[in-house]
This record gives sequence, C-alpha cells and structure tokens, in this order.
Amino acid sequence: GHSKSVTLIGLGPMGQAMARVLLDRGYAVTLWNRTPGKVEELVRQGAVRAETVGGALDANELTILSLTDYGAMYTIFEPASEQLAGKTIVNLSSDTPANARKAAEWLADRGARLVTGGVQVPPSGIGQSGSYTYYSGPREAFEVYKETLEVLTGTDYRGEDPGLSMVYYQIQMDMFWTSMLSYLHALALADANGISAEQLLPYASATLSSLPGFIAFYTPRLDEGLHPGDVDRLAMGVASVQHVVHTAEDAGIDAALPAAVLQIFRRGMDQGYAGNSFTSLIETFKAAKV
Ligand code: NDP
Repeated sequence: GHSKSVTLIGLGPMGQAMARVLLDRGYAVTLWNRTPGKVEELVRQGAVRAETVGGALDANELTILSLTDYGAMYTIFEPASEQLAGKTIVNLSSDTPANARKAAEWLADRGARLVTGGVQVPPSGIGQSGSYTYYSGPREAFEVYKETLEVLTGTDYRGEDPGLSMVYYQIQMDMFWTSMLSYLHALALADANGISAEQLLPYASATLSSLPGFIAFYTPRLDEGLHPGDVDRLAMGVASVQHVVHTAEDAGIDAALPAAVLQIFRRGMDQGYAGNSFTSLIETFKAAKV
C-alpha cells in the first residue's frame, strides 16, 4: 500500500518548500539537516526531527535528498552506511550525469537503490500544478513512490539509467543560462539606449516566444543532418552578429557575449559552411576541439 510517510534530508529553499507541501498533504515527515536550526520551524508545523542521519534513514523506507550536489550525499551518508540497506533514496539534488551514476553504484554497494530527479521549477513551484521533475533509475522503485513524488511536482520518468534525469536537466540548464544571459545582455544594450526593462518586456517576450517555431522548423533537417542555405545562410548570420557586436561596442557595454557567438560563427565559416544554414554550427559544436 501507499505509505504517507517519508524522510527528507536537506532544508535549503527547495527542501523547505518540499517539507511544507508534504506536511500540508498529511504526510508524516522526518527531517534531518546539517544546520539543525532549519528543522525547528517545520517541527512546529508537525514534522519530526531525527537526531542522527541513521535515525532519519531508519524512520522510513523512502528518503528524499535535496542537497547542493551529490558530494553532500556522501558526507551525510558515510557515517550512517549500515542504515542504508534496503532503503530507496530519491536524490533531487542536481549534478552531472556521471556523478549520478557513481552515486547509484555507491548506494548499490550498501544495499540501497537510487532514483535520481532533476527538478524543473523553483521552490515556489513545489506543490503547484504544471511543475515537473525528470526522474530516472529503477522503474519499479520509481513506480512504488510515484504517488509521494507527485505531491512535490509532476513526474517525467526518462528511463533506467540513473544519469538520464541529469542529462535532461543539464540540457535544459544549458539552454536556460545561455538564454537568460542573452536577455540580460540585450537589456544592457536597451538600457544604454534609454530603454527600461519594463519597456523591453513585450519585445523580449516576443523574441523568446518565436523560438519554438524556429526549433520546430529546423528539427527534421537537424535529425537528417541537412543544413541547406535556402532560408538562411551562415555568411548572412556572420554579418548580422557582427552588427550586434558593433552596436554593443558603440553603446559602450561589454560585448563579450555576442563576440563569443561571432567567434563560433567564424569557426563555421572556416569549416566551409558559409553557404549553408547557421544550423551547420551543430557540426562545429559536435567537433569539440577549437
Ligand atoms: P541549497 O544549496 O540551498 O541546499 C543546500 C542544502 O544542502 C542544505 O540543506 C545544506 O545544509 C545542504 N548541504 C550542502 N552541502 C552540504 C554538506 N557538505 N553536508 C551536509 N549538508 C550539505 O540548494 P536549494 O535548496 O536551492 O536546492 C537544492 C537542490 O535543488 C540543488 O541541487 C539545486 O540545484 C536543485 N534545484 C534548485 C532550484 C532552486 O531554484 N533553488 C531549482 C531546481 C533545482 P545546510 O542547511 O546545513 O547548509
């Protein structure tokens, strides 16, 4: 049957949001955190404090981790290794796919199984509809605890390889940080021209909202490895990015971000893609070495 009882270790902003939502939904929640003070407010709301990590593990079959990275997991679990046998650990900390796979092996050596999760929302999205988390690891373990995990966010199970949730997570982060920095750089350019963030908002939103259409258009071509220059040519893209770099320089703002983009376009030119679409830069990226 479904047990409404869970251990949660890690009370950063994310772990605290998770604890509150679980308590709100009537779960018995046992907590441990390195800095004990963070447990107190949640104990007033009905959570149970575990005095030791071993005690936290003993309290439930399922322990959810919300830590800065996978390194913190070893620091916390090493002194309580004997308590791990037979347990299911759901680690909702983000890290590299390789570190998630290593953690699965480390836990398996101690008789525990690992389900990994990459949360796709900020703490305010925990318990909200429409939010979701990528999961991977043993499907059977995921299915057993799916109902509990869905108290936190929707679930998107990606497969048995424990690294997969982090593969998807890092792919999203790759896009997120680059896109958000492109927005901040555009805002600096706007600001240098007397345009405020509020004034930029509809224009920035329109540009970012147009991207799914571009991605959908290029997807079949990318999967076939075709980069015809029928719609856009890399040589045109180089000229366009050059204009952005010069506009930024003329405005007296830092041009390092568009300059890095220009450098990548120029590498594509050197590789002979001038007459092809800018999507031929996927070959530049895949080739790795500069
Ligand atoms: P924090 O870095 O604030 O969480 C820190 C938690 O990890 C605290 O409980 C902290 O303990 C503990 N911790 C860190 N290092 C150690 C250690 N060496 N030994 C013991 N405990 C340790 O992160 P968040 O709460 O913001 O996020 C948690 C995870 O969720 C992260 O992996 C993050 O990438 C991911 N995430 C976060 C999002 C966000 O918007 N915040 C969004 C999506 C994913 P102490 O309290 O003692 O410092």
